[in-house]
Amino acid sequence: MRAIRRFTVRTVLPEPLRPLEELILNLRWSWHHETRDLFRSVDPARWEAVGRDPVRLLGEVSPDRLEQLAADRRFLRRLEDTAEDLREYLTAPRWYQSLTESAPARRPGRGRPAEAIAYFSPEYGITAALPQYSGGLGILAGDHLKAASDLGVPIIAVGLLYRHGYFAQSLSRDGGQLERYPSIDPDGLPLTLLRDAGGTPVRVAIGLPQGRRLHAQVWLARVGRVPQLLLDSDVEGNDQAGRGITDRLYGGGGDHRLLQEMLLGIGGVRAIRAYCRITGHPAPEVFHTNEGHAGFLGLERIRELVSQEGLSFDEALEAVRAGTVFTTHTPVPAGIDRFPRELIERHFGGAAESRDVPLERVLDLGAETYPGGDPAVFNMAVMGMRLAQRVNGVSELHGRVSREMFGGLWGGFDTADVPIGSITNGVHTRTWVAREVLDLVAREAPSAVESGQGWRRAHDLPDTDLWRVRRDLRERLVVEARRRLRESWLQRGASEAEVAWTAAALDPDVLTIGFARRVPSYKRLTLMLRDPDRLRAILLHPERPVQIVIAGKAHPADEGGKRLIQEIVRFADREDVRHRIVFLPDYDMALARFLVQGCDVWMNNPLRPLEACGTSGMKAALNGALNLSVRDGWWDEWYDGRNGWAIPSADGLADPDRRDDLEAAALYELIEEQVAVLFYDRDSAGLPRRWLEMVKHTIAALGPKVPASRMVRDYVTDLYTPAAAASRAMSADGYAGARELAAWKQRVAKAWPGVAVEHVESGGEDGGEDGPRLGGRLPVRVVVHLAGLDPSDVAVEVAHGRVDESDALIDPEYLQLSPVGSIENDRLRYAGEVPLRRSGVFGYGVRVVPRHRLLAHRAETGLIALPPAPHGSADGTPH
Ligand SMILES: *Cc1c(COP(=O)(O)O)cnc(C)c1O
Repeated sequence: MRAIRRFTVRTVLPEPLRPLEELILNLRWSWHHETRDLFRSVDPARWEAVGRDPVRLLGEVSPDRLEQLAADRRFLRRLEDTAEDLREYLTAPRWYQSLTESAPARRPGRGRPAEAIAYFSPEYGITAALPQYSGGLGILAGDHLKAASDLGVPIIAVGLLYRHGYFAQSLSRDGGQLERYPSIDPDGLPLTLLRDAGGTPVRVAIGLPQGRRLHAQVWLARVGRVPQLLLDSDVEGNDQAGRGITDRLYGGGGDHRLLQEMLLGIGGVRAIRAYCRITGHPAPEVFHTNEGHAGFLGLERIRELVSQEGLSFDEALEAVRAGTVFTTHTPVPAGIDRFPRELIERHFGGAAESRDVPLERVLDLGAETYPGGDPAVFNMAVMGMRLAQRVNGVSELHGRVSREMFGGLWGGFDTADVPIGSITNGVHTRTWVAREVLDLVAREAPSAVESGQGWRRAHDLPDTDLWRVRRDLRERLVVEARRRLRESWLQRGASEAEVAWTAAALDPDVLTIGFARRVPSYKRLTLMLRDPDRLRAILLHPERPVQIVIAGKAHPADEGGKRLIQEIVRFADREDVRHRIVFLPDYDMALARFLVQGCDVWMNNPLRPLEACGTSGMKAALNGALNLSVRDGWWDEWYDGRNGWAIPSADGLADPDRRDDLEAAALYELIEEQVAVLFYDRDSAGLPRRWLEMVKHTIAALGPKVPASRMVRDYVTDLYTPAAAASRAMSADGYAGARELAAWKQRVAKAWPGVAVEHVESGGEDGGEDGPRLGGRLPVRVVVHLAGLDPSDVAVEVAHGRVDESDALIDPEYLQLSPVGSIENDRLRYAGEVPLRRSGVFGYGVRVVPRHRLLAHRAETGLIALPPAPHGSADGTPH
């Protein structure tokens, strides 16, 4: 008989062992080696058997052993020390507190850091023991929280608790992907229910069509200093369908997905309000949404302000925008959430319509009102951008791509002016870097891990030590790969006799390439199979063999991705190569750790520029692996010619087949002629000196850049603190700022069609003076029709700089012109002098844009007025 309900009975610990509970309930153990050492010592064999999951460990350890430990003075002392260390970690001032304490007066223009920041994400990868992630987006969210905790950044995280997480992967006999959804029991996880002061579990609810409601309870996880609230709809009071809303991550179709996102966004804000009320935690001043899925949080905050503060929708929108940061994560259209418009109408209209948040306004926020947009869809990324005053991509290249992709939302502005910036992703050092590497680097530079800067000293690492650590890590990967391979084959139906070969699969001394990722088509899992004979020759090279370890899950609905997995598996099954190329099922954080630590080379061959950032190559680099990648995402930014290899990308090529041919050929050639040659070039001591030079350079050059602590500091400085300041400027004095900005925007938008640049002239054109000279100044005079606006409402600017063949300005500088004289007939003259700092072809253009102290960017309103197109004239005005 199948159990209809499962639950976990928690062990009751003997009194002296109570601090173990405290340690387990804080997920800091997932990146704190000393705490894990302590757990291991509870029962070393069982610790390995339960996959290093401390909750399971305590569930399975024998009562006798616990009694024994409760009487073990040395163990108890260590336990108390470890618990004390955690308490200190949770309370001592850290980096963020040093910002708060430095007087604002000494930090002019910066403002006070946010009191609290809410961080929303549909998935989180904190540890393999909490399988609530599918890939990079979730891992990044987990690393963000951990780094925020280390830095003392006051984040409250919000997500959903999926009862079946993301699927577990195995293989069929013929190499197809099989999916299982193991059910998780929150009582068997390091979670507690959020309860009110009286001990009753907190419930939040959101409205559904036909007056129904969806209820959720809130689980609380502790990620170091960061509280994480996870909403769970599997509660009494919901009907069967309602209980299943939080069943799977990225499972189900439109309606199911929309309800998940409504619960995350709307329910998430309500959960935060409850949490702050119960604990006295300050209310967040900034809301950060990690990709568009949580975008409805903006609607909920608008509703709060309209109903509680009496603001209009537009005023509330300004207040909300000022305190919202939106991070876009993908340039792949299929990766962007879009719902049929009717679905939104059903859930936000009719009886479900909130008086304070009219359906029409909701629909407008997600409408694709730009050329090529689809009027029948509601786009969550577009709504995210309209609800946030600050938007960023996740690498410099991705920032550029996003400005092009979403530029239509900012009308007539040049792509370069589109207000989407970028902060390059990072990885959490203590989660991903092998302890042996950390110890080695720390020996040279004790402050390495904390400051990031200490990594620069990696140049001084002794080659012998470094090589020994690298080999140990490779061997550990090989041993783990053999174990998993054997299990996978048994599970695929092979007999013991048939799996004997796995004991000798891979080789701890062979150059090892890692290749693991989700399997959307743009990541091109099978590019290496383009020419199977050539790949075979690389793997089996008599002097310079190569081995490849592959892992990755395809989304259950992605038949194409599953076919790619099968293709790879079938190749790896071949008897002639199976000892050199392996596919390991069920890619997760635990497997990723072995891979990024044990590989010599991390390979990545996405279709440029579709990989927004990519982070696994960063994890590998910090462990001393070299990257072999297409210059996409982070690698485009930080590849420096000495920290790995760039696979040439044929991204201009229209024919995808030909492009794959070219890029695969380049990949093979790099491996054969450079990577393998360098790896096997040994001196008399058996050391690959030139290889190790590159490894040391990689660690030294990337060490200060790739840690998530750098990323989170960037978020604090560039986005959270300015957003907090903007948010305060909106809300002060009964939301005077929000009211003012909303009224101003309405007035300006109404007048704008009449604003015009009516006349432009520059010094050289209208009189017998000499032409422009280097070091001179070019006087520019303009007449602007203000359409009733005040001169303080607009900025009249000259863009100037080099021009390309089609007269487009390249990276122009802007000079603001000053009004001359007074308004006549609603017209005002402006003048200024453009400095001529460079010789050669030069051009300028003129634009009028709205100006207000509460705007974050000139392009924010999307409004711009340009002079009429020049008819064949060559005076450099833009087109
Ligand atoms: C780091 C990591 C990712 C992200 O990989 P990229 O493709 O480099 O963004 C995905 N899955 C797991 C398990 C990871 O550890």
